[in-house]
Amino acid sequence: MCRHLAWLGAPVSLASLMLEPPSGLLVQSYAPRRQKHGLMNADGWGAGFFDGPQPRRWRSAAPLWGDASFASVAPALVSGCVVAAVRSASVGMPIEASASAPFTDGTWLLSHNGLVDRAVLPLSAKAESTNDSALLAALIFERGLDDLGDTIAGLSAADPNARLNILAANGSRLVATTCGDTLSVLRRPDGVVLASEPYDDDPSWQEIPDRHLVTVDVDDVGPKVELTPLKGP
Ligand code: GLN
Repeated sequence: MCRHLAWLGAPVSLASLMLEPPSGLLVQSYAPRRQKHGLMNADGWGAGFFDGPQPRRWRSAAPLWGDASFASVAPALVSGCVVAAVRSASVGMPIEASASAPFTDGTWLLSHNGLVDRAVLPLSAKAESTNDSALLAALIFERGLDDLGDTIAGLSAADPNARLNILAANGSRLVATTCGDTLSVLRRPDGVVLASEPYDDDPSWQEIPDRHLVTVDVDDVGPKVELTPLKGP
């Protein structure tokens, strides 16, 4: 399992989202508070952000807490749309930078928190690695993010033990699912955070119920968060 986080709003630094919060991804890499599967997230990390329409990534197969270079540069990496994750590899999965979220198709950045039987996923020449999350990302990109809810509902019927929490962004929109693990939303005056678990004790964090599709769009009034139940049991 992993922990992931996305931001849509005013430009903020990656350090302010990932490293500085008292229970941010940095602390979640060794002491997550709500993780049900796995004790820590030491098998890699990734930070993705939009630079205009261009997704950019920094990924690693090492623990986030040991990366002094990222800690040095992260205060200067500023974006209005971010997807970041720390990874706890599932048994049998490769530990390499290309297996760390976020994955991309050049338009979207996408993270998977969970586990799915690779037998229910088609092989794809476009997958960045051979772990379940990379194969799943390739399938979601192939089907399109507009169909994310149906894709996840179908996979969860094909593999009832699967945990399929997805978090994706394209620079102007966040799309996420809850399916087997936790996700919380924080509405800030300058934007919206979706995260596997709250990065601080702000009472405004709200937990999203299981088996939902979540979308965050920005209109004239500001960010709009919408929840739709996933189909199926
Ligand atoms: N199944 C994932 C992997 O090994 C586990 C990490 C996660 O929750 N994405 O890649």
